[in-house]
Amino acid sequence: STSLVQYYQQRKKERQIAHFAPRPIELRSDEIVKGVSGLIGNTPLVRINSLSDALGVEILGKAEFLNIGGSVKDRVALQMIDDAERAGFIRPYTGSRIFEGTVGSTGISIATIARARGYETTIIMPDDVAEEKVKALQALGAEVERVRPASIVDKKQYVNLARQRAARFGEEDSIDANDPSSKAKEHTHILQSTSDSVVSEMPRHVRFEDGDEDENASRTQPRGFFADQFENRSNFDAHFKGTGPEIWRQTNGRVDAFVAGAGTGGTVAGTGHYLKSMNEDIFVAIADPEGSGLYNKVKYGVMYDPKESEGTKRRHQVDTAVEGIGINRLTHNIELALPILDDAFRITDAEAVSMSRYLVKYDGLFLGSSSACNLVACVKLVKQKGWKEGQTVVTILCDSGTRHYSKFW
Ligand code: PMP
Repeated sequence: STSLVQYYQQRKKERQIAHFAPRPIELRSDEIVKGVSGLIGNTPLVRINSLSDALGVEILGKAEFLNIGGSVKDRVALQMIDDAERAGFIRPYTGSRIFEGTVGSTGISIATIARARGYETTIIMPDDVAEEKVKALQALGAEVERVRPASIVDKKQYVNLARQRAARFGEEDSIDANDPSSKAKEHTHILQSTSDSVVSEMPRHVRFEDGDEDENASRTQPRGFFADQFENRSNFDAHFKGTGPEIWRQTNGRVDAFVAGAGTGGTVAGTGHYLKSMNEDIFVAIADPEGSGLYNKVKYGVMYDPKESEGTKRRHQVDTAVEGIGINRLTHNIELALPILDDAFRITDAEAVSMSRYLVKYDGLFLGSSSACNLVACVKLVKQKGWKEGQTVVTILCDSGTRHYSKFW
């Protein structure tokens, strides 16, 4: 019995040692972050073990699904809102309303930051996007308008509608503000009272994140602002100043290729330009889903198959289960990307679906459809280059599978 007591005493000591042995703690940030903006960017770079081990090449994904709004678009929304505030287009708690045309992710990002900063949001989106994105937007209190998917040449296309709504919002307020019978007045009144009630719950002055205070904030005219992620330079800047430098730092500059899909083109343009500015040999390629014109543009210099008739071109829409990437027109951010694109990979829906299943099965990574496309393109690139050992390919894990249950999954 003595030996048994000794045995248990020894085990207890071991357990205590194991329990109290100091373990290295790695924090994503050492600071206490200030509000939701502090939960955007600075994402980890994760090694995709299954693919890296199988290929002998490091495949690294930027874990953008960890941003507070759940996607890479948080970076863009934050930059667009910061820049619009700096330019004086919007002012917190004055009834300013942000309008955007989006397939969902950017809307969720804008609505999240807007809530934290005292703005209203109107999101216009096609009615065929995954239902869970609409629910997230509604939960965040955004006004959501869903329209039939249409080509950009159609006035009722979602981006065109967002632009029109924003313009009309501003116009009505400035032209009709003194007319009690006008609808605009009514709208202004509703917005004003919403913001007043919020302000009354706040400390006496509206406090801005930069530390400024504005006593007159609730008396300023409400304004409409069209965020316009496709044409807005802030989109490029978010990645040129954030995603690109982060990847460079996290890899100690050891990057051989960067791969991303393009929806607005902001990610690939901003990140690609930054990485090339550090090392022009870094190979930059896009993952392009079926129905998108970018693949042809990069490969052959034309957006459409020249054999297609003008009529077909006009009706052409990106028709894929993949959400968020692929486009059939040249936007400002796509134009910024084109000069640095070294190649493009056409990704079928079937390839994206099987990659997403593979990542769950072997890595426990439940990702969205554009992340799956990106990883298919990484594999294609490694095979095309004949890379076998030591190279590093970086891509973007744009969002989680939870945003894609009802459509892609
Ligand atoms: N993935 C998802 C899920 C997206 O919503 C988007 C943006 N539409 C992208 C990728 C593409 O990013 P970008 O707009 O920067 O080209």
